[in-house]
Amino acid sequence: MGLPVQKVPEYFCELPLSGLKVKFRPFLVGEQKTLLLMQESEEQGLIFNAVQTLIKEVTFGEISDAGKLPMADLEYLFLQIRIKSIGETTKLNLICQVDECGASNPIDLDLNDVQIDTSNIPDMKVELSEELGVIMKFPTADLQKYADAEESDAFINILKSSIDTIYDAEDTYDTKDYADREMDEFLNSLSLQQVEKMGEFLNNTPTLSHIIKYKCIKCQKKNSVMLKGLENFF
Ligand SMILES: [Zn+2]
Repeated sequence: MGLPVQKVPEYFCELPLSGLKVKFRPFLVGEQKTLLLMQESEEQGLIFNAVQTLIKEVTFGEISDAGKLPMADLEYLFLQIRIKSIGETTKLNLICQVDECGASNPIDLDLNDVQIDTSNIPDMKVELSEELGVIMKFPTADLQKYADAEESDAFINILKSSIDTIYDAEDTYDTKDYADREMDEFLNSLSLQQVEKMGEFLNNTPTLSHIIKYKCIKCQKKNSVMLKGLENFF
């Protein structure tokens, strides 16, 4: 007789920005080991690839390219998978920010409290002039690859990739149908103010973040720290 093999449980969650409903299973032991190894790596690209592969596997191939999800959705999904696989709490060591204290504060964080605030989603439509405007889309996770580039390059590349449609008085233009060079020409024809208006959309895109308030165990002063990014919520 063969050994019993446990049936893997299945869970569902809805991604806050795209509204996608996703079925997933927890990580298995082998997969968790890979993750721990990745965690020790400083290379963002490596970590991102591992996360992508893992998401594809635990969603039964449904999310075949996690890089195409809005960044916040990917982080949220990963967090839900983590909760079901490893547990609902994580232990953090937060360093007191009060001058010259620097004490390390152990904090238990309930990961269910980490949410994406969707109450102030910016308008997807950005009017650039009376006759010209764009419809934006949320920056996808794979745009993180630009984050290592020089800051101004990163901004313009992320912006360019986050324009879904351009419209004027006559027509609408799906940016998918246009070459990179044409997009550059379009962007170069805009004023600084117009580019900033689109930049505001990027800045106001919801992210996975969580504010922790605690009293330092050493100096007793109040600290408030905002956690952002997957690495804080492993
Ligand atoms: Zn302190």
